[in-house]
Amino acid sequence: MMKKFINGCDDVATEALEGFAACYSKVYRKLPGVNGLVLRKHRQNKVALVIGGGSGHEPMFDGFVGAGLGDAAACGNFLASPNPGNIYTTAKAVNVGQGIFFVYGNYAGDNLNFDMAEEMLNAEGIPTAHLRVWDDCASAPQERLTDRRGIAGDLFMIKIAGAACDAGLSLDEVRRVTEHARENLRSIGVATTSAHIPGAQDPIFTLPDDEMEYGMGLHGEKGIKRTKMVSADEITAFLYEQLKADMPIEKGSDVCVLINGLGSTTLMEMSIVYRKLAKLLADDGISVYDADMNSYCTTLEMGGFSISIMKVDDELKKYFDMPCSCPYYARGSVVESDEMPVEEEEDIEEPEGENRFYDPEQGRDYIAAHKAELKRETMDAVGAKAMLLSVAETVVDAEPMLTKVDSAIGDGDHGIGMKGGLKKAHVELLKLADGNDAYLPFTIAGNAMLMSMGGASGVIFGSMFMAGPKGEEPKAELGASDIARMMRKALNAVQERGHAQVGDKTMVDALQPAVEALEANVDKGMLAMLRAGEEAAAKGVEYTKQVEARFGRAKTQGTTIGFQDAGATSVWVIFKAMADFVEQIG
Ligand code: ADP
Ligand code: MG
Repeated sequence: MMKKFINGCDDVATEALEGFAACYSKVYRKLPGVNGLVLRKHRQNKVALVIGGGSGHEPMFDGFVGAGLGDAAACGNFLASPNPGNIYTTAKAVNVGQGIFFVYGNYAGDNLNFDMAEEMLNAEGIPTAHLRVWDDCASAPQERLTDRRGIAGDLFMIKIAGAACDAGLSLDEVRRVTEHARENLRSIGVATTSAHIPGAQDPIFTLPDDEMEYGMGLHGEKGIKRTKMVSADEITAFLYEQLKADMPIEKGSDVCVLINGLGSTTLMEMSIVYRKLAKLLADDGISVYDADMNSYCTTLEMGGFSISIMKVDDELKKYFDMPCSCPYYARGSVVESDEMPVEEEEDIEEPEGENRFYDPEQGRDYIAAHKAELKRETMDAVGAKAMLLSVAETVVDAEPMLTKVDSAIGDGDHGIGMKGGLKKAHVELLKLADGNDAYLPFTIAGNAMLMSMGGASGVIFGSMFMAGPKGEEPKAELGASDIARMMRKALNAVQERGHAQVGDKTMVDALQPAVEALEANVDKGMLAMLRAGEEAAAKGVEYTKQVEARFGRAKTQGTTIGFQDAGATSVWVIFKAMADFVEQIG
């Protein structure tokens, strides 16, 4: 089943171009009768740049008509070259007598049609030249460079050609500069899901759900390798290796980089890809002159991305830096003025060797190393840290259960939120040097949660841990009554922040009875007290099934009766984890 916002299949490319021109009508006009898009303020007294190719790759090519870029674009039907008449008419519309330079992807259909259009123009005495983009290094071996296809590298070629035209170079010189850029350009992609051409019976290719194909072309052309999906880092490393093996980059090179989404790949994924690529380039001593990521050269809703790298020397840098702008792309800086002074900020490096990642093993090692000194009835700084490390691991492990509970009536993010916050707390606790203040680990854990979690529970649970130590003098050992008092302060802080009362179906429904149970059982010793707290919290969780939600993102549609509250469930998990920890001491 094809779900697309179209009006029948016959005029899709034309209707799309009409809409595009209408939307950006200050910048463009569409030529009557042909699918040609013209820049209203196109170049005068210079070589004109005309780009083009099949439709379905938007914003390529129409979106790269603009100041410093193409003067016009000839747009074909779906994934099909424009015809010679279209190309000829579009070029004539921006011809100012200095010649026309064409940039397009190296495909048999495009080559035939553009060649024929050039002949028609030449017959009228209009000089022309062209550059075929063949950046896709997966599409043919080095020896058959001119058999390679053009993919997202089109963008760099349009950028350089446009700047060369703006610089007033002759047609021959524009070609020379652009060819020089092409020698230094390579791309390679990976595809995950196909696209469906309106009117076509089937998607343009098929790939099993759990597989991807390296090097696949924009039209489903066969790639170099099909494998199971792997991590973004692995894919990126593989693609980078292919590019490196194929192009003249080495330590000291400067490069422009583009991560191009093929249609349905998110910016989030492209960012993760770029993150890895930046590291690989840095490791090789290659400097990034310019980097960009976007879905510039797509195939409808196809999934996947490509990496393009263009090595730049002084000449190419000069053209790359010249300004350009259009609705989809801009380079070159805005002129700074006295009225708008700016100051450039320097990078700040992430601290070296900082342990950013959760490692439960390290927490267990810490607990094991201090096991002999831990006491059941009192908790010193080491004991508090050990207990909180253990609580953190327990909550992290409870994530699937918390997610399930929150998904039934909430937005389903509570488990993920708690997991993230307690992983961060675990990391920060491990960094904390053993000191003489048993309150400090609670503050550290709460602050880590508060500053990392977000959501309602970030503030609620962060405050819960931080509130206890607030206003207290440092204390070497905490007894049962200190813990009970901390939890009472925690409850007060949560209610001060969130204004929830018992019966509102929040974590307060578990925390308040738990605190009351701690206070009632202070004299029975640490373990018995905590167990009483845990039992009261469990009853509180049961109670939340009987009341309607009034806070948080619990679904407003329908009833929440019969379902337990996620935050209350977390309170119970935390109390149980504290009691379990104390039980295994001694
Ligand atoms: P969000 O509601 O932002 O999606 P979470 O899903 O992480 O946040 O947390 C939801 C939990 O937070 C609820 O189950 C509830 O226990 C608790 N909560 C929400 N609002 C309040 C509040 N005002 N006071 C106390 N707890 C609250
Ligand atoms: Mg939620």
